[in-house]
Amino acid sequence: MDGPGIRYTVSMPRPATHLLHVTVEIDAPSDTTELRIPVWIPGSYLVREFARHVQDFRATDSLAQPLAWRKTRKDTWLIEAGSAPTIRAEFDYYANELTVRTSHLDSTHVFFNPPNLLPYAPGRTAEPALLTVEAPDGWTVETGLRRCEPGRNVFIASDYDELADCPVHAGPDPVLSFDALGVPHAVATWGRGNLDQERLRNDLQRIVESEAALFDGFPYERFLFILLLTEGTRGGLEHRNSTAVTVPRFSFRPGRSYERVLQLLTHEFFHTWNVKRIQPEGLGDLDYARENYTRSLWVAEGTTEYYTSLLLCRAGLITSERYLEIIGQQMSDLADTPGRLHQSLEEASFDTWIKHYRPDEHTVNSSVSYYLKGAVASLLLDLEIRRQTAGQRSLDDVMRHLWHQYGQAGRSIPDDGYQSAVEAVSPGDWTPFFDHVVRGRDDLACAPALATIGIDVAWRADPNAAETWIGIRTRSEGGRTRVANVLAGGPAWDAGISAGDELLALDGLRLDDSGLDDRLRDYGPGDCVHVAIFRGDELVVVPVTLAKRPATQAILRRNRQATVRQRTMYEGWLRAPWTPG
Ligand SMILES: [Zn+2]
Repeated sequence: MDGPGIRYTVSMPRPATHLLHVTVEIDAPSDTTELRIPVWIPGSYLVREFARHVQDFRATDSLAQPLAWRKTRKDTWLIEAGSAPTIRAEFDYYANELTVRTSHLDSTHVFFNPPNLLPYAPGRTAEPALLTVEAPDGWTVETGLRRCEPGRNVFIASDYDELADCPVHAGPDPVLSFDALGVPHAVATWGRGNLDQERLRNDLQRIVESEAALFDGFPYERFLFILLLTEGTRGGLEHRNSTAVTVPRFSFRPGRSYERVLQLLTHEFFHTWNVKRIQPEGLGDLDYARENYTRSLWVAEGTTEYYTSLLLCRAGLITSERYLEIIGQQMSDLADTPGRLHQSLEEASFDTWIKHYRPDEHTVNSSVSYYLKGAVASLLLDLEIRRQTAGQRSLDDVMRHLWHQYGQAGRSIPDDGYQSAVEAVSPGDWTPFFDHVVRGRDDLACAPALATIGIDVAWRADPNAAETWIGIRTRSEGGRTRVANVLAGGPAWDAGISAGDELLALDGLRLDDSGLDDRLRDYGPGDCVHVAIFRGDELVVVPVTLAKRPATQAILRRNRQATVRQRTMYEGWLRAPWTPG
């Protein structure tokens, strides 16, 4: 038999219904063949139960004779193939969730992730597969999969992992393209907004070239960005030779919102190496039917987050002043998270399935983001390597070591492989550092690390907020002010105020929506206030002793008295000249 024995067709006869029609044909099936849809999509660590969007499943042989089938699990269909040489299953899939990890079809475009809707046959995932996309006239189909022949929307995947790693987009909007170091890159866009194609193309080229400079070239033959302009969500999902990104549609005027677009693109593109090829062991041999565990997401996401702004600075797309602000903001956000003292980076990585991806009102007190703490930890690691090697080596060398030793060799990395890589680059025993920063729950000591590059850290309370502090975060709900979070160890926590309480009055006078901070300016630390709340239907008055707002805002400045050694270290780190701060 010619060609792959597993063939998928995705069609969309009525796009406005959001229903994709999926057909899968499997040659030489066993007597009873299972088809299973993944419960999760790699890169987004939550069981999402994609099979729940399947309807009207049926199975036949190649002559359209019905075959018996039954569901055996929430995600699995068992087909009685008997002696049929080929089985054919088909169903509709409801695609109406526009995020980078789900699928969306309407009259203007289609975006789908194969793990959402293309079932695999357990035991046959190593076989090549063909994917045919039947899209409306005038829509350009783009994916990271190889096209079988020019002009036809038929693609081939070498195995199910490759198929699952290649999202597909089709629509009428323009596909931008540019070459970087002689390698073609494309940007499939969708959605109206204020996209400036020329600026984006130029900035993306600088971004991909600065990342290629770190890793000595591109590891693919073509790269595809799928850029979806939407009503407000921001998200990205990494793949080996593509990435899907959603951004608010009016994000492209230069300024902070455009900076966030560039950060997102830089972050996702860095994953081309870090996590897609420099791959933690737990994410090497994927099981699509259950959670896959790793203790190293702090590298996959945190180190990626660290390099995101560092590379934008090195590429000249943000200034060094702005970069120091961003680091200060990350340190501040970490200091504002009481949960940082209750979860290590390894714990946060391992438990992402039930913590990071399933946050609740207490998450801020019990958990730490491996993106955030991982970024600060990576900064400390970089600066400590530079200090120990007198600026001769850096985290750049560790990333290249991981790329050459594991990524290019096609091996995944055991959880202790990162420490070993650091020790290979900067000889010595790094166990105390990793025990403290990666496996520990204590605060990180950033000031001594930043001093090695001549940066001073000053901690202050937010000057735009009241000096008096009650220790809650609020949210507005239809004109009512509700307690969103009670920060552990703060005045409200000690007084027994609870997340979900509706704030009514302070010392007997009504609290306006979001007027709490302003009212607190009339009190001082140590004052006792009576906070009236509705807890459920019940009116409760809680006495709270206010405190002084903690100094959780980090301000970073270049030290005017920095030594030559400190300045040299700084310049090696940022690849930018030291300027007096
Ligand atoms: Zn990421």
